[in-house]
Amino acid sequence: MKKIPISLIIDDPSPVVSVYHAHHDTGFTRDGRPILEYVPNELFFTFCEIVRRHGLKGKFSVVPMPGNRGDIINGIDGADENDVAAWLNGVRERLCPAFSVGPEMLTHNKAVDLATGQALPMNERDWASVQTEETLTPYVAKALSILREAGFAPLGVTSPWNFGIEVEADYVKAISNAVLQVCGSKSAWYFLRSRRDVPDAKPWVAYDDGDRCVVSIPATARDHFWQTIDTTQADDSFVSRVADEIITADGKAGELIDILNRNGMPILITHWQSLVSNGLGTGLRALDEVATRIERNFGDALEWMSFEEILTMVLANKEQYPKPDFN
Ligand SMILES: [Zn+2]
Repeated sequence: MKKIPISLIIDDPSPVVSVYHAHHDTGFTRDGRPILEYVPNELFFTFCEIVRRHGLKGKFSVVPMPGNRGDIINGIDGADENDVAAWLNGVRERLCPAFSVGPEMLTHNKAVDLATGQALPMNERDWASVQTEETLTPYVAKALSILREAGFAPLGVTSPWNFGIEVEADYVKAISNAVLQVCGSKSAWYFLRSRRDVPDAKPWVAYDDGDRCVVSIPATARDHFWQTIDTTQADDSFVSRVADEIITADGKAGELIDILNRNGMPILITHWQSLVSNGLGTGLRALDEVATRIERNFGDALEWMSFEEILTMVLANKEQYPKPDFN
């Protein structure tokens, strides 16, 4: 029997510093604790171990200039360079190629003036909303080239917030231009949209000129791990309840089951800050539990795929992945 593809999106990771801290509006969790500014590598290594143990695959962002605090090549303000190097090394050695690495634009905070490297007054989402193919291409190319310099081979990008959604046709062409320029590939993927609570949720061909192709890979689930940021609750029954929202222990309910029942492709999503849980790592434990339940209930019926594997799968059968009618 043909296996059903499943994938996991991890948004917002960067070495040592938290971009969630950088762009957070109040600086405090909803229960009043300061948002964690630095993430211990210990939690990152725990994530790598969960990935290895369960054979998880998907997409892992690396924000190249996290929070306008420097960049992953020349150093990040406030971060020990050995910790940054160990983190990047872990992504290269322990997450690739199971996870396709791509930038989540430059800063996931303020937009950058490419000529000076300085922060512009608006965030990247607001900046992108009025750009064109011409101005987006070098911006995306800059993000990709920093990752290449760090030893990655990115074939796609993640949109911080809903970066580019107002000018999506231009954005998609800019992604294609930039991936070709920087990485030499005529096919590319990107993550911008979600397809939740709809039948047949799956990726689609967003651009195809007969030579170059861009595939949009959506999240088809919600980030149920996010709630662990705003609470100190971390007992096993809480972890189990978070996992239940995706898949119950008996495999009979949860959003993953709903997606499969609607004939969709489960593309789960979480954020680095959701796994870190403001330092408690509760989200990591919930992810471990979700992966255990998926394994136990589905065994080989589901097959974890990286975003590059999804890209290849879609390009091999483009007509099966038409652009959906959204809105
Ligand atoms: Zn993000």
